[in-house]
Amino acid sequence: MPVPKRKRSKSRRDKRFANKGLAVKSITGCPNCKAPISTHVACKECGHYKGVKVLVTKSERAQKRVDSRKAKQAATGEQESKAE
Ligand SMILES: [Zn+2]
Repeated sequence: MPVPKRKRSKSRRDKRFANKGLAVKSITGCPNCKAPISTHVACKECGHYKGVKVLVTKSERAQKRVDSRKAKQAATGEQESKAE
């Protein structure tokens, strides 16, 4: 009867079960913008969770940055025009 030459170490044995707990995440559509999102997670596209706005999205931050820059430029432009 064939027998394993050496004892399999705990490390090698436990590696076999290391991925057993991994599960495929369920994905649903955002009720607000229909983007695919994980369940029980706020939508990164529109910042909504259960129909309530809870996050400031990346695009909104970028837009805010552009607006503040324009306001700053307008303010400094006005000051320069006043100085001249
Ligand atoms: Zn969304």
